[in-house]
Amino acid sequence: MSMMNGARLAVAAQALGIAEAAYDEAARYAAKRTQFGTAIRDIPAVYRMLLTMRGEIEATRALLYEAGQWVDRKRAWERRLEESGEDALRPKIKQAERLLGVLTPLVKFYATEMGNRVCYQAMQVHGGTGYMREFNVERHFRDMRVTSIYEGTSQMQVVAATGGLLGHELDELFKAWQEADVEGELQPLRERLIAATAQFNLCVDPPAGQRGRGAGRLLCGGHGGSSGAAGQCLAAAAGRPA
Ligand SMILES: Cc1cc2nc3c(=O)[nH]c(=O)nc-3n(C[C@H](O)[C@H](O)[C@H](O)COP(=O)(O)OP(=O)(O)OC[C@H]3O[C@@H](n4cnc5c(N)ncnc54)[C@H](O)[C@@H]3O)c2cc1C
Repeated sequence: MSMMNGARLAVAAQALGIAEAAYDEAARYAAKRTQFGTAIRDIPAVYRMLLTMRGEIEATRALLYEAGQWVDRKRAWERRLEESGEDALRPKIKQAERLLGVLTPLVKFYATEMGNRVCYQAMQVHGGTGYMREFNVERHFRDMRVTSIYEGTSQMQVVAATGGLLGHELDELFKAWQEADVEGELQPLRERLIAATAQFNLCVDPPAGQRGRGAGRLLCGGHGGSSGAAGQCLAAAAGRPA
């Protein structure tokens, strides 16, 4: 299982790398290509696509680094336990395992679905030329497609993460992020995180009389995919607009 979790994080990192490459291609092309006498990157519709891609990539990076930090902590604590036999390390290792049990499928799902969206938009920025094999973006689009299939499809990641989410396994992370000392332009993001966490909790533990609705919204990701409460919460946690 731990080998599989390692592979899932590796595929998430692979998706992030391909997305970054696709974004770079799109940004370069949009700066060079002119239409109606202007570089297409200055056309609002194109600029918006580039901005959305950049935001999604950075949100994924934040989520992947969070998971990676817990892998590193777990390894360091295990090594120290082996060397020192310090019993106080055992609950910390268990905590890392619990968090990784949810973060791993979550980041695999998020990164690979995000990567598919980014590659779609990168090809869109290229217009017709992006569809041709002569351009790298066509390869990125094709390479990205398999990431949400191998090492467990996206649907299987949802199955793997749902139990932990319903069991409040990430609550301690949400709390730590809410209490983090942030200032300036990060402040509004913290407020969104607090609001999204409240909505998330309402879905997981709906008030009596609304039980079916809340749980249904969580499991289905809401009526609008990531615009559901769980999606908003995770998006806010990862720092992207829901
Ligand atoms: C290029 C490539 C390389 C691969 N390399 C390896 C490898 O090295 N080692 C290895 O072991 N495997 C490898 N695989 C296999 C890969 O892991 C599987 O293809 C993948 O896990 C999906 O399984 P499946 O193809 O049997 O699809 P299925 O399990 O038949 O899934 C078909 C559809 O049903 C959905 N589905 C299935 N079960 C559920 C469920 N419980 N809940 C919700 N939806 C569900 C899936 O999400 C999917 O949409 C590779 C695949 C590819 C394409």
